[in-house]
Amino acid sequence: MKYISTRGNAPELTFEDAMLTGLARDGGLYVPETVPTMSKEEIAALAGLSYEETAFRVMKPFLGGVFSDEEFKGIIARAYTGFRHDARAPLVQLGPNHFLMELFHGPTLAFKDFAMQLIGQLFQFSLARRGERVTIVGATSGDTGSAAIEAFRGLDNVDVFILFPHGRVSDIQRKQMTTPEDANVHALAMDGDFDDCQAKLKDMFNDFEFRDGVKLAGVNSINWARVLAQVVYYFSTAVSLGAPDRKISFTVPTGNFGDIFAGYIAKKMGLPIDKLVIATNQNDILHRTMETGAYTKEGVTPSISPSMDIQVSSNFERALFDAYGRDGSAVAQLMDELQDGSFTVSQGAIDVLRDTFASGRASEEETMAEITAAFTQTGEVLCPHSAVGVKVANENLGDSPMITLATAHPAKFPDAVEQAMGARPDLPPHMADMMDKPERVTRVPNDLEHLKALIKERIAAR
Ligand SMILES: *Cc1c(COP(=O)(O)O)cnc(C)c1O
Repeated sequence: MKYISTRGNAPELTFEDAMLTGLARDGGLYVPETVPTMSKEEIAALAGLSYEETAFRVMKPFLGGVFSDEEFKGIIARAYTGFRHDARAPLVQLGPNHFLMELFHGPTLAFKDFAMQLIGQLFQFSLARRGERVTIVGATSGDTGSAAIEAFRGLDNVDVFILFPHGRVSDIQRKQMTTPEDANVHALAMDGDFDDCQAKLKDMFNDFEFRDGVKLAGVNSINWARVLAQVVYYFSTAVSLGAPDRKISFTVPTGNFGDIFAGYIAKKMGLPIDKLVIATNQNDILHRTMETGAYTKEGVTPSISPSMDIQVSSNFERALFDAYGRDGSAVAQLMDELQDGSFTVSQGAIDVLRDTFASGRASEEETMAEITAAFTQTGEVLCPHSAVGVKVANENLGDSPMITLATAHPAKFPDAVEQAMGARPDLPPHMADMMDKPERVTRVPNDLEHLKALIKERIAAR
């Protein structure tokens, strides 16, 4: 199993090297050369298995033998022990044919833990056997940063730097990043928005001298191993509702297109997915692209679902690569055009995308109204991101069961939830003392040279 770049001009890598690298050297994203498929019998055989066993069977064909079965089973077991629900990704019912997949029972209360806890164990294993160390730099709109810190804190052979947009994450998200005391954790509050943070991260990766000098590794959702980890819960939940004998639909609140792209991979592997629905907040570049074919950047407008406040949707590049018949030079040209703010998807490619994905958006008012409605009708307390999903899912209900992904615990976004419901959601007891802990954070300018110097200095000091 080889991994190739979406821009067609980087070395082919193994699963392990693609994971440790993150971004390809031509600026593209790694994807498997071919997507392995599972037969109907193999999918049916997942019924009743633990999440961990399902994870093993679904992910193993992508590894190309870089870990033994025993090694990989151990990695998976360690990754999911910190989750506070035995099902890991339990379903609750919202309506006659509508279910919610709760992805917030991990250590930082957002779905990012599913991938990040696994990738933390994978890195630890690989670095130890290679005798290497790496510097992880991540950009976050809030939840990736805390999930990465939680997965990598305290490791000797890893330094983790997290860039987050100053003043644009919730108090709890910030506290989760700034209160860990481990010396290898570095929280950086940058002047700018999430797209600025992500752009600086890409600049660091494109500076090969710096990249190789500090052994830069990326754990943003562009990292293939993260996408792969997220494929698992599409299988586990679909099978529990009757797949492969019955088609299942999914609605995914998305910004960077990572989580929904994992659903797309599940479908390519053979899971009978009926509708795959993109749900965006008011920062709706993906919905507009599906409607018009024009991918046009507008400014980011801060919303009550901040983890989706994104205009440059990195993982969409992977979908484009397939929609253009895996033509890397065509994708490279689109990404070049995007430097000037927009590109237009060809008719052939937009037809392919529309065959695979439906889309919708929720305004701020609609998101608030959905939190209230879901609570009144079902007693379920939704975080604003999940509410965006439920609102769009309701517009796409049909014959097949609909599963909406609940991406974060409501207590991570207490202000919006309180405003909608009149009551403030409580943090789980194990996190209740976090708000009183002292914070450790460095305010940084939106300046590449400054950031590179700071990272080198911090590593040298360890
Ligand atoms: C990251 C995140 C999203 C968006 O996920 P993508 O994979 O970037 O599309 C949605 N909701 C929450 C709570 C998140 O943390």
